[in-house]
Amino acid sequence: PAPAAVGGTATEPSQKYPKGVVLGKDGKPCRSCTSGAAFSAWTSQAKSTLRAQQAKPANDCPADVETLGRSTWTLLHSIAATYPKAPTWTEQNDLKSFMKLFSKLYPCWVCAEDFQQYIKKRDIRAASRDEFGNWLCEAHNEVNRKLGKPTFDCSKWEERWRTGWKD
Ligand code: FAD
Repeated sequence: PAPAAVGGTATEPSQKYPKGVVLGKDGKPCRSCTSGAAFSAWTSQAKSTLRAQQAKPANDCPADVETLGRSTWTLLHSIAATYPKAPTWTEQNDLKSFMKLFSKLYPCWVCAEDFQQYIKKRDIRAASRDEFGNWLCEAHNEVNRKLGKPTFDCSKWEERWRTGWKD
């Protein structure tokens, strides 16, 4: 879904927040829903926050939407890479339960709601490593498309995440 509120958009103009800042359900800027650039623009507006920010190392901050996303995709694709080729029913059910809970708990709520919708549309496929790896690759591509990023060739997911690139 569209974010509930975004600083400076046509639908919801905002004096208070710079363009691109996504508000959480509590009405405050949602760090894990907002790009690092937009979030920095907002923090720069607040003098005291800026001072606190300058006192800390730049790479020692809570995750923004990009850092959170990159780390999370690394975890999810690595789970696919170590998932059994022939999983038991229990392993298949565990993976499906994990993915469903993950989609509810993901800290970027706008991302989470879209991902829940995707899971409803495209049932999680977990009958084998190959099946889950491809399902996840397609799910990641759906997000890539939404963000205007290039899609990934899913025939190469195992090279990227399990075996390493062929020479
Ligand atoms: P990432 O997309 O994080 O990818 C990391 C690496 O994975 C890439 O460098 C590439 O080597 C590899 N890769 C890329 N595509 C695939 C693929 N299809 N299969 C296998 N490997 C691949 N951000 C938002 O702004 N809005 C959202 O709604 C949103 N929803 C998200 C939902 C989920 C479930 C997750 C985990 C993240 C979401 N993100 C969202 C974050 C977003 O997907 C990116 O992680 C973030 O923008 C950083 O992108 P990146 O270019 O560094 O590469």
